Amino acid sequence: MEGEQIGRLLRQAAEHAIRYRSELPSRPQRPLHGYTDALAAFDDPLPEAGDASNIVVDELAARAEPGLNVTTGARFFGWVIGGSHPVGVAADWMTSAWGQNAGNHHAMPSAAAAETVAARWLLELLDLPRESSVGFVTGATVANFVCLAAARGEVLRRVGWDVEANGLFGAPPISVLIGDDAHTTVFSALQFLGLGHDRLIRVATDSQGQMLSDDFVRRAADVRGPAIVILQAGQINTGGFDSFTKLVPAAREVGAWIHVDSAFGAWARACPIFKHFTEGLDACDSWATDGHKWLQTPYDCGYAIVRDSEAHRRAMTIAASYLPTAMEGERDPSHFVPELSRRARGFATWAIIRHLGREGIATMVERHCRVARLIADELRGENAIAVLNDVVLNQVLVRFGADEPAERGDELTRATIIRLQRDGVAFAGGAKWRGREVMRISVISWLIDDAAGKATAAAIISAWRGVRETSQD
Ligand SMILES: *Cc1c(COP(=O)(O)O)cnc(C)c1O
Repeated sequence: MEGEQIGRLLRQAAEHAIRYRSELPSRPQRPLHGYTDALAAFDDPLPEAGDASNIVVDELAARAEPGLNVTTGARFFGWVIGGSHPVGVAADWMTSAWGQNAGNHHAMPSAAAAETVAARWLLELLDLPRESSVGFVTGATVANFVCLAAARGEVLRRVGWDVEANGLFGAPPISVLIGDDAHTTVFSALQFLGLGHDRLIRVATDSQGQMLSDDFVRRAADVRGPAIVILQAGQINTGGFDSFTKLVPAAREVGAWIHVDSAFGAWARACPIFKHFTEGLDACDSWATDGHKWLQTPYDCGYAIVRDSEAHRRAMTIAASYLPTAMEGERDPSHFVPELSRRARGFATWAIIRHLGREGIATMVERHCRVARLIADELRGENAIAVLNDVVLNQVLVRFGADEPAERGDELTRATIIRLQRDGVAFAGGAKWRGREVMRISVISWLIDDAAGKATAAAIISAWRGVRETSQD
């Protein structure tokens, strides 16, 4: 491929992406194809001879687009998914074109430098201990894994056991305390680390999924030996926060390492009016958070933040004779993540923070929480719709047929979600909360404003009325 041809190809790909994003406002807010059709669109035999590059790019766009979910649409409220901010996308395009392998700072100086600075900015934005180290990972799942690996190593090191060298066979047992409504990926991280997802001390939670302080204090008091406590900022369904001011001192009493899963909740700290929810969070030892949620970086991007950077480094360091070694005081990106070769995620993080600034991020978080309350208020005004959670942050949990028996309410809630998605004005998904079907509305895309919130509430009410009418026939 020659220079001119490469230019044409990259422009062609950019044109497809630009057209896709500009067409979204007039497209239904859902994938047009399900998996079966999407698979049929791709399912060719292994090609023996290749096709021309421009044909491949056109084909990829044509085959993929119908099966794309509209996560970058203005009324997307599914799961907890940021909106791939254009500045992040632009930085990410360049990241791909530059082809840097972010593993080593001597080999890829700019990739490492952007991470060093973005890491410092993140600690300032989230107001976390400035001495912390930051690993740039794929998301909060791996961030939880990295932080808990550092925790495991450090609590065992304190009792004279080197887990990095000797593994867990014969090691003193570690007590792990966790809330009943912790995110599923934290249990996965514990599973990967040999700590098990079942041999945990589970702490009861309240209606917001927040740990009951009394239950926590009682259970923590029985703990002897190495211990890890896992707290949460931003429960996946309710947006609730554990009480750090009550739990942290009790955890400190038994000498536990305190980790916080704060995939999106940490960003309440970037907004002065919500920061109080996280009071005391900075007194913990490690924090997992996401770039691709509230910060709006493109997928994938998360941050593993550890106060004790030596524990972080011991858990993750990769060394080999052919890799240049970092000097004292130098930050090598591979010291803080499980991977050696990986994407240079610092560029997109740097670019988005540079573009939005501290104020822009605070305004966005504030706007999202306002829209969540707005949607909740509109829905509460409608007959037989119940908002189940206290809308403290950006999450709204909704139940339909609230005046009906529970089983019937489950059916009506499921039917309303299906109808909302089919109508295509807004996208929200479902979940089970306290054993019952609910609609989850997660306000976290940079595109969402008050108007989108109003249109969404109207679309949900219309879907619900439609379901109610047909169910009464
Ligand atoms: C999303 C989320 C995770 C997992 O993060 P990924 O980015 O999907 O890896 C963990 N915990 C909470 C609370 C989350 O919201």
